[in-house]
Amino acid sequence: MSTKYIFITGGVVSSLGKGLTSASIGLLLEKCGHKIAMLKLDPYLNVDPGTMNPFQHGEVYVTDDGAETDLDLGHYYRYTHSPLSRASNATSGQIYETVLKRERRGDYLGKTVQVIPHITDEIKGRILACAHQNPETSVVLIEIGGTVGDIESLPFLEAIRQFRYERKKDCINIHLTYVPYLKAAGEVKTKPAQHSAQILRGIGIFPDILLCRCENPLSKEIKEKISLFCNVPEESVFDEKDVDQSIYEVPLDLHRQGLDTMICKMLDLKKEKPDLSDWEKMLYGVTHPHGKVTIGVVGKYIDHQDAYKSVFEALHHAAAASNVSLEIRKFESEKITEHGAVEETIRGCDGYVVPGGFGERGWLGKILTAKYCREHKIPYFGLCLGMQVMIVEFARNVLGLKNSDSTEMNAQTPHPVISLLSEQKKIENLGGTMRLGSYPCDISENSLAGEAYGKNIIFERHRHRYEFNNAYKEAFETRGMRFSGTLHKGALCEISEVKEHPWMVGVQFHPEFKSKPLDPHPLFRDFIKASLIHQKQKSGLLAAASLA
Ligand code: GLN
Repeated sequence: MSTKYIFITGGVVSSLGKGLTSASIGLLLEKCGHKIAMLKLDPYLNVDPGTMNPFQHGEVYVTDDGAETDLDLGHYYRYTHSPLSRASNATSGQIYETVLKRERRGDYLGKTVQVIPHITDEIKGRILACAHQNPETSVVLIEIGGTVGDIESLPFLEAIRQFRYERKKDCINIHLTYVPYLKAAGEVKTKPAQHSAQILRGIGIFPDILLCRCENPLSKEIKEKISLFCNVPEESVFDEKDVDQSIYEVPLDLHRQGLDTMICKMLDLKKEKPDLSDWEKMLYGVTHPHGKVTIGVVGKYIDHQDAYKSVFEALHHAAAASNVSLEIRKFESEKITEHGAVEETIRGCDGYVVPGGFGERGWLGKILTAKYCREHKIPYFGLCLGMQVMIVEFARNVLGLKNSDSTEMNAQTPHPVISLLSEQKKIENLGGTMRLGSYPCDISENSLAGEAYGKNIIFERHRHRYEFNNAYKEAFETRGMRFSGTLHKGALCEISEVKEHPWMVGVQFHPEFKSKPLDPHPLFRDFIKASLIHQKQKSGLLAAASLA
C-alpha cells in the first residue's frame, strides 16, 4: 500500500497547540495499527533553533543523532513512537542553505534558481526523506509551523499543494483553526475560521478536516455554519476544546469525536480498534491524585512558558507515577542574590531543579540554590548546567576553593572545576563545539543513579560545551562527592551525587528529553519520590515542633 501523508496547518493565531494536536493524531494512528513518521517544517531562516534565544523560541529539543530541533519534536516523542532525527525537522534556513550550496557547485547547470521549483522541490524531498526513514512507515504527518497568511510560510504551502496534486488519494489536509467565544457578544464567532480557510483555498489548499480550538464544545448550529462557509462537510468539523486538567486529554477527546475513524476513511487506511486503555489509565491517575508535590525550578528563562517544556513535562510524568499532583514554582535565578535571603525567596518546596542554561546571568542564584539544598538536605536535581552548578558550589563551600568556577562564567578562575575539554588538555582548537546527541554512560551500582536506572549502561542526550575537570576528581571524591556515571570507555564524569545527602544528583546530559507520560524517566521518578519523603519528614518535624 502507498504511504499516506497528512498535512497539518494552523490558522488565525499562533499558540493554538498545533504540535500537540499533530502528536495526538500521531498517537491515534499508531493505536489504529499504523507505523507513523512525523516532520515539522519551520518557516524561519535560522538553520536550526540552536542559535536562538530561548525567550524567542522556547526549548531546543535534541535528538539522539544530535540535531537541535523545534520543541514540537518533544511532543512527538512524548505521544508517539515516530523516529526522531535530523530528518524530522526542516527550516527554511536549511532548505535555502541546501539549494544555495547546490547552486554554488553549479548543479543547476546554468538555470535560474527559483522558489518554484527549486525550493519547493527541496521541501518535497524532505517530506519523502522523512517517509523513507523506515520502510514500514504507512503514514507521515507533516506539521507546518506558523500561521497561514504568513509571508514566510508560502513556499511550504505551495510545496504541499503540489505534493497533494501529485498524489491525490494519498494526502489530506487538516487545518487547525480558532473559534473564539466573545464575552461581550455572548457568542462564539466563526469568522476567523472562515477567513483562515479562505486564505488556504486562495493558495489552492482545500482543507479536508477542520479542527476548531474553542473554550467549550461547539453546537451543531455553529458546526453547520463553519461547514457551509469553509466548504468542509459537517462530519469533518471537529472541536478541540481547552483541556480541563492535562494536555494528555487531547487524543482521547479527539478519539471520542471519531477523528481517527474519519482520517482512516479519507485515506483508505485499514483500522484496528484502538486500545487507549493505557493512556486512559495514566490520565485517570493524573486527574485523581492522592497528595501533591511542590517543586521549585530555578532558572534564567523562567518567564518564558516554553523554555523548559520537557523539564516541566518530565516532572509531570514523575508526579503522576507517584500518584500526586504537581505544583511547579518558578524562580528567576537572577533574583536570588547573596544579599537577599535565599531561603526567603525559594523556601517551601519539596525539591528543587536547576535546569540547563548558558551564560553568566543568574549563575550565583543557582549556586545559592544548590548550597541551600545541600545544607538543608533538600532533594536537588541538576540538569546539565544544573550539574555544573552543583560542582562549583561543592568546590567553593566543601573543598574550600573559594574562587572556583566554570570557565564559561569566569575564564580566569584559579580553580576551573568545570572547563572545556580543550582547556583541560591544553589543546587550543578542540573547544567551541558542542557535545550533541546520545552518548553511552556507565553507571555505578551502589549509587542513586544505579538505583534509579537499574542498568549498567544507559544512553542519554547531551547539549553542552563544558565538562567536569577530572584534575579535581580525587579531591571531590575524598570530600564526599560520588561520580556515579562516566562516559562509556571514556573518563568524562556524567553524573555526580552528594554522598551525605538523601538525593542530590547532577547529570551532564538532558534526561528530560527522554521522559514519556507512560514511561517516566527513572531519575525524575526517583527525584519526585525523594521530594515526597522530604515533604513527609518536613511535616513530621513541623508537627513535632507544634507539640513541643
Ligand atoms: N552552558 C553549559 C555548557 O555549555 C551547560 C549547557 C546546558 O545546560 N545545556 O556546558
